[in-house]
Amino acid sequence: MPIASTLDLVRAAHSRGYAVPAVNIVDDLSIRAVVAAAEATQSPVILQTSVKTLKSVGAELLSAIVHSVGHSATVPVALHLDHCPDRAVITEAIRHGWSSVLFDASDRDLESALEETAQVVAEAHAEGVAVESEIENIIGVEDGVGSDEAVHSYTIAQLADAAAQTGADMLAPQLGTAHGLYKASPVLRFDRAKELRALTDRPVVLHGGTGLTESDFNQFIGAGVSKINISTALKLAYMHSARAHLAEAERKDKWEPIKLIDDVAEAVKVMVIEHIELFGSKGKALGVAA
Ligand SMILES: [Zn+2]
Repeated sequence: MPIASTLDLVRAAHSRGYAVPAVNIVDDLSIRAVVAAAEATQSPVILQTSVKTLKSVGAELLSAIVHSVGHSATVPVALHLDHCPDRAVITEAIRHGWSSVLFDASDRDLESALEETAQVVAEAHAEGVAVESEIENIIGVEDGVGSDEAVHSYTIAQLADAAAQTGADMLAPQLGTAHGLYKASPVLRFDRAKELRALTDRPVVLHGGTGLTESDFNQFIGAGVSKINISTALKLAYMHSARAHLAEAERKDKWEPIKLIDDVAEAVKVMVIEHIELFGSKGKALGVAA
């Protein structure tokens, strides 16, 4: 099937009471492994690319791989650009067939953030691309983007007004989560998701999902979150399985790249299936527009 609309997948999730997993892929191996997990569980899936990954692989090649894999997939697959403060990269993604982009304006003051987000929305919508908006910064640095400090925080009413003013399609507010691994238990703000959802019908996105419990995810989904991002868990599954494989290769003095790829793909697939089960998106591939 053709590449799916992120917004269709996320809206269907909201009306049916689950969240779509949005997994940060880094290469063709992880793209194929994440889609294999989605197919094994018949879950819709969003493949996300950081700016770093887009630059590492190149927009044209990355898009071609995702479109090729998505075309032959038995589940809807959307392509999303994660945290991007750089307007030129946003334009590149829009031109190369991304389904949606996160314009991260959390490093701007409110006035500039609103003005530029509205411009990005106009540019993206002209090409049928949806926009996730972040004007408060989600704590933690991810692939070189972000800050460990809460630089900008607003009230829920301000966030709802901002969404109405900019026309953004999906919203990424601060929900008490952080990118990376938690050093201490986070104070989760289910209340903010719920209050925001009461003031706007735009889907709410949860960042920093790695390390949360089943109950945390359920409470966020109950509070109206319908897209959950998974990045750190993929990095850990990928690198730890590679390390285990290489240690074994060294012990046996047998060096087979394809076996390394197979082991990493299997570890990524298992990790994604676990999250699909936690998010309730298993078996939900049908009935969403593709
Ligand atoms: Zn994020």
